[in-house]
Amino acid sequence: VTAGFDARIARANELAERYPAASELLSFYRDLSAFQKSVFTNLHSTDLRGLIPLFPALHEIVRRSGPQTLADLGGGFDDPAELERVLNACWQGQTSDPAERFYGRVLLQPYAEWLASRGSGESNESGSTCPFCSARPVAAVLRGEGEGAKRSLLCSMCSTEWLFRRVLCPSCGEEDKEKLPVYTTPEIEHVRVEACETCKVFIKSIDLTRDGRAIPVVDEIATVTLSIWAEEHGYVKLEPNLLGV
Ligand SMILES: [Zn+2]
Ligand SMILES: [Zn+2]
Repeated sequence: VTAGFDARIARANELAERYPAASELLSFYRDLSAFQKSVFTNLHSTDLRGLIPLFPALHEIVRRSGPQTLADLGGGFDDPAELERVLNACWQGQTSDPAERFYGRVLLQPYAEWLASRGSGESNESGSTCPFCSARPVAAVLRGEGEGAKRSLLCSMCSTEWLFRRVLCPSCGEEDKEKLPVYTTPEIEHVRVEACETCKVFIKSIDLTRDGRAIPVVDEIATVTLSIWAEEHGYVKLEPNLLGV
């Protein structure tokens, strides 16, 4: 189940009003989504190097509506050979440099989604990394109520969703309910912090039974205050989102 880029843009606009603390992040995300939509719709080759000529347009967006430091760091990727190195490292999950991850992912996400959309689609696998591209999940998604409720994980790279047991830490495999606390706040009813006391990692889950209009990837960004809260309480996020938070 992949929400299209237009739906993400519309949801980002809607949530910018509901969560003023995240409005700057969301307006930047909206511009990036519009860029990613154009990447997605213009792809015609599986050659990752096809993304290289698109970098200047992305860099321009970051200069216009992103953080200054990120815009400055983007200057390092003007060299096509360097950008190709970054794209490959990012695709293989082998970079932790924030600027490399950011530019790499903005370009690679629509490429990965495009590849996934041509693939087999639904997957029944239930590991803690994406069955399609092996990236880590950026959020969890809850569907269905009560005993029958199901949890899926949402890939941070290709947006594939796959089923994952409710009471199981996607980081360390802890299965003891007592060690897997869930934190909620009345102000944000449909998003929860699912933490693990064993490895101290958390992931946020977007509960579609509480807000059926939610677009998980966008609602995850909009609720940055929950992530900050979790980090202040000693937890580390399983996987940063596109904006690195
Ligand atoms: Zn994936
Ligand atoms: Zn754990």
